[in-house]
Amino acid sequence: MIKCGLLGRSLAHSYSPQIHSRLGNYAYHIFEKEPESLEEFLQVVNFTGINVTIPYKKAVLPYCAELTPIAKRLGAVNTIVRRKDGSLLGHNTDYFGFFFLMKRLGIDLNGKKALILGSGGASNTVFAVLEDLGAIPVVISRTGENNYQNLHLHYDAACIVNTTPVGMYPNTDGQIIDLDDFPVLEAVADLIYNPARTRLLMDAEMRGLKTENGLYMLVAQAKQSAEFFTGCSISDSVIDSIHHALKLQMENIVLIGMPGCGKTTVGTALALKLNRTFIDTDQEIEAMCGCSIPEIFRTQGEAGFRKLETEVLSRFSKESGLIIATGGGCVTKEENSPLLHANSRIIWLKREIDKLPKSGRPLSLSHDLQTMYKIREPLYQRFADSIIYNDASVDDTVDNILNDLENPL
Ligand code: NAP
Repeated sequence: MIKCGLLGRSLAHSYSPQIHSRLGNYAYHIFEKEPESLEEFLQVVNFTGINVTIPYKKAVLPYCAELTPIAKRLGAVNTIVRRKDGSLLGHNTDYFGFFFLMKRLGIDLNGKKALILGSGGASNTVFAVLEDLGAIPVVISRTGENNYQNLHLHYDAACIVNTTPVGMYPNTDGQIIDLDDFPVLEAVADLIYNPARTRLLMDAEMRGLKTENGLYMLVAQAKQSAEFFTGCSISDSVIDSIHHALKLQMENIVLIGMPGCGKTTVGTALALKLNRTFIDTDQEIEAMCGCSIPEIFRTQGEAGFRKLETEVLSRFSKESGLIIATGGGCVTKEENSPLLHANSRIIWLKREIDKLPKSGRPLSLSHDLQTMYKIREPLYQRFADSIIYNDASVDDTVDNILNDLENPL
């Protein structure tokens, strides 16, 4: 029986067990260890192979009888395999992972400058891959020769890779640099994968640059680790299929659209079908305030309601895997766009205006819906990743959403 796992210090939120369950038929355990028990773990526990993560990628080096050339070059090990004689062989599959991320990004960096933000462990790996791709890598460190104060020396960069934790869940508001000053920038990669789009990636996306988050790297490195664990080769196409499945599972699905277009009904049915948690932002606002939406409009006006709505969106949109039904007017506030886009696939549910019910909806009762739609249509369009018509049965709409998720345009 092959026995594998992940060694680290704080692993509660790791996706590795899920990824490895899709890579092969072997047991994959979580080994959370404090530094003082590392030696005993490596000597006593009878594992076939383990992945190693923060903070032990360097600490395990003395326990490896041999390092592969890439592990030696990077001075870090993220995969250990126990050989037949019991000795440990240290690999580094992060190199393969980031190499595949760059391949997916699909840009030619030969002879071009590439900035690496941060000088930690991952920065070393990124540097080695970029160097091997023919780029001119430059590490930007808060305390190094090249830093955020003299960034102007590097405005000619073609690629930027963020290896700092800035922008990572739960502190998703952070953005480490502004992309305004990089006229020849072609691509931005961020090793963070939660949220799916950091502020930096959203900024790059808005400029039409190629972008990629760290999920592909995570899956690709796991694929090569699994090959070392089992001794069997695995097709590279498996990286794509696991990445796709995991991306769907991690992102929230957010429903936007006119009041009464069916967001709550469809969202509830979708959550049931996908076995996910359903959140209705209007209900959350009511629970938070202890009164109904019409009451909030009466006492705080639309501006007060929108403020509460953004607060609720900010809370839930940071989570993963939720189905979120929004209020019809959430698109009228610009700041809701990055909040939702960071970790969600946004679906605009469309329904004929004369079929929309008005009861209990303060704005629908006091406004002409056709006029309201004229104003909001371009906003829904701008927020949405896709449009699904909700003119037939709920089941049909749910099926159309599922189909859209599997085959995005
Ligand atoms: P690390 O060793 O802690 O290095 C992070 C570096 O970021 C630090 O050395 C520091 O560089 C910089 N930094 C830290 N806090 C900062 C702040 N507040 N503002 C600006 N810079 C800051 O971590 P790591 O192991 O290299 O991992 C870095 C990131 O990559 C993490 O988010 C990790 O989750 C991710 N990662 C992803 C994968 C994947 O498969 N997708 C694999 C490995 C790592 P300076 O002091 O030089 O500024």
